[in-house]
Amino acid sequence: MHRILIVEDEQDIAELIGFNLQRAGFEVLKAHDGIEGTEMALRERPDLIVLDLMLPGRDGYAVFRELRRDPRGVGIPVIMLTARAQTEDRIQGLEAGADDYLTKPFSPKELLLRVQAILKRADGPPGAVDFSFGPFRFDKNALKFYLDNEPGELTSTEFKLLLYLCERAGKPQDRNDLLRSVWGYSDAAHSRTLDTHMKRLRQKLGPHGSLIETVRGVGYRVVRAEE
Ligand code: CA
Repeated sequence: MHRILIVEDEQDIAELIGFNLQRAGFEVLKAHDGIEGTEMALRERPDLIVLDLMLPGRDGYAVFRELRRDPRGVGIPVIMLTARAQTEDRIQGLEAGADDYLTKPFSPKELLLRVQAILKRADGPPGAVDFSFGPFRFDKNALKFYLDNEPGELTSTEFKLLLYLCERAGKPQDRNDLLRSVWGYSDAAHSRTLDTHMKRLRQKLGPHGSLIETVRGVGYRVVRAEE
């Protein structure tokens, strides 16, 4: 059973989300401020965190940064929630590296679909094994990534993106296919998310980042070593 941590100070929203997730078969943990949320996330290591941004104690961005700095928290997928619909908040959330982002008010069903999409891609196919490509190695079961045989820190989203491209190396991958396979759906709002994640991914890969090519009008591809 997957465990989901809800970090949300607004009691009625936390209850509503929690009720719907439990009904869908998830185990639910709740924290009501940023400090409790950070501690609980690192201690309990849930499979996914629903993180409100406006929190007492420590805001959602600070919680998120703390989790990404800590080896116990770095790989946990995060869906950010905000009441603020301004574009800059949305972009800030996505650029921070959140796996997904929802603006209040949202329907519990929409949240549930996104939670399921993220967990589905985080689980990967059963019995999956290692996959190597050039300087990259992917442990699909543990979602661990190695760059030149050194552990590399990729978020689950970056991991899936890079793996998807490497498994199809040499062939340009369409933006919508990438969005659908990695995020579980594709729409215009997430088009920007794809580019943001790709930029961060390239940065993390250092000199090997150039193996990822932008294919104008199509999407992205990973270049084969012999090219
Ligand atoms: Ca709040």
